[in-house]
Amino acid sequence: MSIVVEQVSKLYGEQKALDQVNFTVSSGEVIGFLGPNGAGKSTMMKIISGFIPPNEGKVMVCGHDVVEDTMEVKKKVGYLPEHNPLYLDMYVKEYLKFVGSIYKIPNLKHRVDEMIELVGLGLEQHKQIGALSKGYRQRVGIAQAMIHDPEVLILDEPTSGLDPNQLVEIRKLITTIGKEKTVMLSTHIMQEVEAICNRVLIINRGKVVADKPVTEIRGALSSKGYALKVEFSASVSANDLKKIEGVVGAKQENGNNWILEIATDEDVRQLVFNFAVENQNSVLTMQRIEKSMEDVFKELTAS
Ligand code: ADP
Ligand code: MG
Repeated sequence: MSIVVEQVSKLYGEQKALDQVNFTVSSGEVIGFLGPNGAGKSTMMKIISGFIPPNEGKVMVCGHDVVEDTMEVKKKVGYLPEHNPLYLDMYVKEYLKFVGSIYKIPNLKHRVDEMIELVGLGLEQHKQIGALSKGYRQRVGIAQAMIHDPEVLILDEPTSGLDPNQLVEIRKLITTIGKEKTVMLSTHIMQEVEAICNRVLIINRGKVVADKPVTEIRGALSSKGYALKVEFSASVSANDLKKIEGVVGAKQENGNNWILEIATDEDVRQLVFNFAVENQNSVLTMQRIEKSMEDVFKELTAS
């Protein structure tokens, strides 16, 4: 077992960031750690990486206790912190040599070249980190996390803030790395888990609310539909609204404001306009509401 987390709680003052968390990660798994902002993802990852201790419970990484055997844990774990703090004034190669020297890596020059090759930094290797795009800075962060060839990689929101092209590239890189290592990555993007991971662990308000193979939650992650918030100028009935193609539910918010539940991913706005016109009514405002993480949680945790 690569990671064993038993009854872990973490308090910041009065606030409980983690509340009796339990899970295990087997060697070679690529696990997605999903949850909204403030759920406790970064806190859990810092504990696993040996950077902060839990208040209660026990965490073992590759057989070593993160509190009693922190140095051993740091040798086994590569950690990319959230917001990837880097020395912007340093050059890519200089920085990787600096990190490698902390781990006393033999034949460091060769190892740095290997890392540059692996993460695709060849053309950027002589640049200053401050001159790199966000996507390339993430590559430097991943190279830094892997330079000592750890068994376990902990990547905290590795794709946040990347543009769509960079996102695809970094996901590809993580998928490649995941073939060799145990990887735990946090994200608040559901589709990302589907793209990269075999298993998903969902945390909400410090508690694990789901722990499942990705194949089991694919439906919930990608199930079709959205909601449409519509304001009409005159009154309508729920029954009439449900006659619009694609509309499976209609909930009156107040007055002539309605939330329509749409069962497809098709754009039904034109149909709603037509409906209003046919009924001597008109649409004043219309707004699409995406399915929220909370909705998905409800689906996933409903038994
Ligand atoms: P996530 O990474 O899922 O967004 P975090 O682990 O960063 O969640 O935070 C969990 C909770 O703990 C949040 O409510 C956050 O405000 C709080 N928290 C995190 N770090 C600290 C800290 N150093 N001091 C006080 N509260 C913190
Ligand atoms: Mg975080």
